[in-house]
Parts: sequence; C-alpha cells; structure tokens
Amino acid sequence: MSSAYKQLSELSEEIRNCKKCPLWKNRKNAVPGEGPVGAEIMFIGEAPGYHEDLQGRPFVGAAGKYLTKLIERIGLKREDVYITNVVKCRPPNNRDPRNEEISACSPYLDRQISIIRPKIIVTLGRHSTIYILSRAGKAISGISQVRGRLFQVSFNSGLNINIIPTYHPAAALYNPALKTIIEKDFDFIRSIYTGEYFETKRKKITLEDFS
Ligand code: URA
Ligand code: SF4
Repeated sequence: MSSAYKQLSELSEEIRNCKKCPLWKNRKNAVPGEGPVGAEIMFIGEAPGYHEDLQGRPFVGAAGKYLTKLIERIGLKREDVYITNVVKCRPPNNRDPRNEEISACSPYLDRQISIIRPKIIVTLGRHSTIYILSRAGKAISGISQVRGRLFQVSFNSGLNINIIPTYHPAAALYNPALKTIIEKDFDFIRSIYTGEYFETKRKKITLEDFS
C-alpha cells in the first residue's frame, strides 16, 4: 500500500467521524470524496446533497450524472479523477454552506490536495472557486468573471496547479445557455489536460517572435 493511499484513506476516515462544525448533527454520512490517489484532475463541488448524504459518495444524483458525462468529454472516465467538495457534510435543505462551515471543513480539502497533488483542479461553481482562488491569493466576487480561464498557481508553496473554474453542473443541467458554456469550458479543460493548449500557445509565440 503506497503511503499516499494510506494517508488518503486515513483522512477519509477522519472526515467520516468529524464533528468540527454543526453540520455533523444532521448528516447520515459525511462525504470525503472518491477517486485514485494518482488522479491528475480533481473536481471540487460545493457540498453533498440528498443522495450524496445517503450514499456517502460525491456527485451521485442528477448533477453527478451530468458531471460524469462532462468528464467523458475530456476523454476520461469518472474512475480516473478525484471528486470532492469544499464542505463534506450536507447543509440542511441544501442551503449554501456558511463561511464558518467552509473555514472548519476546508483544511480537509487542503490536505486532500497535498496528498493527491493533482495537475489540474476544476472548481465547480461559486463556493469552491472563491475558496480555491483565495488560497492562491486571488480575491474574486463571482464566477462569471473567472470561468473558463486558466489560473496557474503555486499551492501550499511548491505545488504548481492549473486551476480552471467553471459553473456548477447542477446550475447548467436545466439551463441551455449555461450548458453550452460549461461544455465549452470542458473542451478547454481537455486541451489543458492533453497539453494541446500549451502546444498551440508555444507555436503562436514562436511565430510571433519571428514575424
Ligand atoms: N452538488 C455538489 O456540489 N456536490 C455534490 O457532491 C453533489 C451535488
Ligand atoms: Fe466536519 Fe466538515 Fe462535516 Fe463540518 S462539514 S462536521 S467540518 S466534515
């Protein structure tokens, strides 16, 4: 058993028993996240919903089915990536997580990132985007100004990660305009993942240099 695997399993166990904020009181199951330790891409949602709380697994409801399809758009399977949330227990009636709940829970996410060391982090929706970009020292007020853009940041000093924010799949699911945008963002994620984006950029720079 690799030590990263062991660390991640122990962390999941710690999360399942956590009582650091009041959200533990109403949960059926905490939802640590799932995916292989060697995952190159990490998806971060907001918080578990009804189905996730029942099953103890992230993104298993309607939004999750759509996320699985979006992941396949990158050329990957759901099993290839790590999927988690900023907050690991379900807020009552799916209300937004509160700042103090995010503060209590986010150290778990930071530790997951340090163990997995993903090359790419995709933040899904406002809450995870604000949190992750704030960890990278960037304050933002909303998702629309940053979605579909690449942020190359150094995380926990030393870990270089490509961060791409996009809309939350639950928001895009029944909104054709957002659906078009999120699918375009996933095509962009694919080009970052395959390296095509960097290759095109390099060629462009070289051509401009000699023109
Ligand atoms: N929405 C989220 O943000 N996370 C889940 O795990 C499920 C739905
Ligand atoms: Fe612990 Fe996070 Fe659950 Fe709060 S939401 S009880 S901090 S695991």
